[in-house]
Amino acid sequence: HGDSAAVDDKIASVCPYCGVGCQLEYQVSRGTGEVLFEEGQSGATLADAQSQSLASGQVKQHHGAASQDPRLDNIIAVSGRDGPSNRGRLCVKGRFGFDYPRHPERLIRPLIRRAGVPKGLDPTFDPAHPLSHFREASWDEALEVAAQGLMSLKRAHGPDSLAGFGSAKCTNEEAWLFQKLVRTGFGSNHVDHCTRLCHASSVAALMEGVGSGGVSASFMQAEQSDLIVLTGCNPGVNHPVAATFFKRAAKRGTRIVVIDPRGLALRHHAHRSVQFTPGADVALFNAMLNVIVSEGLADQDYIAAHTEDFAALAEHVDALTPEAMSPLCGVAPEEIRAVAREYATAKRAMIFWGMGISQHTHGTDNARCLIALALACGHVGREGTGLHPLRGQNNVQGASDAGMIPMVFPDYQPVGDVAARERLEALWEAPLSATPGLTVVEIMHAIHAGQIRGMYILGENPAMSDPDLDHARSALAQLEHLVVQDIFVTETAQFADVILPSYAWPEKDGSVTNTNRQVQRGRAALQAPGEAKPDWWITQQIACHMGLEWHYAGPEEIYAEMQQGMDSLDNIDWARISHEGSVTYPCLTPDGEGEDVVFGEGFPRASGRARFVPTWPTPPDETLDADYPTVLTTGRQLEHWHTGSMTRRARVLDNLEPSAVATLNPVELERLGIAAGEPLSITTRRGQITLATRADPLTPAGMVFVPFCYAEAAANLLTNPALDPVGKIPEFKYAACYLTKPKVS
Ligand code: SF4
Repeated sequence: HGDSAAVDDKIASVCPYCGVGCQLEYQVSRGTGEVLFEEGQSGATLADAQSQSLASGQVKQHHGAASQDPRLDNIIAVSGRDGPSNRGRLCVKGRFGFDYPRHPERLIRPLIRRAGVPKGLDPTFDPAHPLSHFREASWDEALEVAAQGLMSLKRAHGPDSLAGFGSAKCTNEEAWLFQKLVRTGFGSNHVDHCTRLCHASSVAALMEGVGSGGVSASFMQAEQSDLIVLTGCNPGVNHPVAATFFKRAAKRGTRIVVIDPRGLALRHHAHRSVQFTPGADVALFNAMLNVIVSEGLADQDYIAAHTEDFAALAEHVDALTPEAMSPLCGVAPEEIRAVAREYATAKRAMIFWGMGISQHTHGTDNARCLIALALACGHVGREGTGLHPLRGQNNVQGASDAGMIPMVFPDYQPVGDVAARERLEALWEAPLSATPGLTVVEIMHAIHAGQIRGMYILGENPAMSDPDLDHARSALAQLEHLVVQDIFVTETAQFADVILPSYAWPEKDGSVTNTNRQVQRGRAALQAPGEAKPDWWITQQIACHMGLEWHYAGPEEIYAEMQQGMDSLDNIDWARISHEGSVTYPCLTPDGEGEDVVFGEGFPRASGRARFVPTWPTPPDETLDADYPTVLTTGRQLEHWHTGSMTRRARVLDNLEPSAVATLNPVELERLGIAAGEPLSITTRRGQITLATRADPLTPAGMVFVPFCYAEAAANLLTNPALDPVGKIPEFKYAACYLTKPKVS
């Protein structure tokens, strides 16, 4: 890191980035201890306050890094701890992406939009100096304006005129309070978050098929497997420390089978790579099921003991032979047979999948197929077997468990379930709506339709993360009242009426739940700057300003209430996670470790059995044609995370990947007459972006990959908002586009 400050403190916490949930230790310099932000001192961001301090001679510039004010405490290094999901390892994001809380653009005071300033992205706006468009406000004024704006819309237009987006970056306690505010304060179930853009279709299929939205086994179980399937995921980039478990397993003899159109995942460790036609997953998986059924490879004892509706599935796949499906999926029949046989005959096999599976209009069908494959072969409920959707954000599992989903209460209890609703109504002493709420993209449509008029957005950045950004941004601009709570003036905050400055992860106490269902404890390592406040405190204050009587003293008390409303947290109390650092749910005894593998004794469905759900191959929403002949697919990079609001403000990470690049096959570059590094324009039916190119022989010809974290070349200006009908997830992984060499002006 190159910082010469001494380490004064070491704080045990958890990585704020991906769903792996690596445990880490922040090494902290406590600074000089002088007060940086005195009462009444102006400055809406660290940059403003620091420049004022520099001008007044209060402080000398600290070796060229505006973000390292010597009077503030700073994280100066991060190391991995021996957590169950990382065993001391960290990836580049966890190890080096820690200085964003001290970025000059960090918000330190509440802001209110200046009268007459239009809502939207203004190219002249500088997030480091937001006072051009917003004015500073006291907390009292900002909270009153925020809450009264929401209340007046509710009074005028009813509860269905308001909605909330929380964030998978919230702690469990913050997620719990946020959805409680929407349900009891707004009076609707219009609460959602980025799980809708991530694994909503996987969760829908898992709930339907096996009765639980979590993974059936941790990724550590890969080390007990004979064979693991990686499909629609690229863990070396997106879940790098989970990938180390897969690599170790491969070295010990576990066969890795990659099934993916891009064929990238752990290619140096893969035993077999099946590259199929983008968007044709269901055809390929059904053909594999046909082989397993027709060749007698199904585990009939397991099927008889633990499942239902197998006969219907067997009849359904009878005609979906490898020969019939091969033209659709682009994989030779013999290759389909080989991979099906290999999976079915392995003693212990696991399937891991990512958003290549879930982010399709047939994302739920994709996951149904994977569930059917595992059930047909009895690869569930034993060590080294299982179904594992690799979760994206650090707390997308926990935020979903805590109920930040419009159609279910905490623990995935349907909002229409009378018993579940009465239980929460008794706990919260408030009536609850039995009508499922709208999802992320549906809320954007509802704004355009004039139904949703006010929103509260905590930590989410839909002005970057939603599909078809022109549509999403025009919806945000149309809102009559928008409250945004965040650590920077994000793209979404630029549409806000009120901006509330909150704590960054290293300033927070709270719990998070990773992809393995491990509930872990995060701890504050830094003091928050200026007047920034904890997210739970801000949400509580908005609730109080709306007339609710909330008196939580902090995360521990909120967690205690969660335990009363969520059976999944039985035997996992605050003292345990604080003392032990990590406990897996479900945990059957007060001192048990929790169940790393579930479904050994049956499934949490009414019948106790898992269910096969047949699927038909369907094409992507947009198909290629002469005008739009190339597939656009989007995703993440190793160094950057989601919309880039944190990692692009982390110096090391931003230096490693400073600008947007499109990745495509050298054959495509040659066809276009573009040298690697030169710019490329990508156009879909929704928009055009221009960005630099990078050659990658592994990306198939006819496809271009664009990361979605760069505001200056926002991939989601191009993406298709068409939704999976069940999971309501957009088809981020497939849009029809054309590529051109930009004209030199
Ligand atoms: Fe953080 Fe994920 Fe990297 Fe672990 S693998 S250090 S949780 S980003």
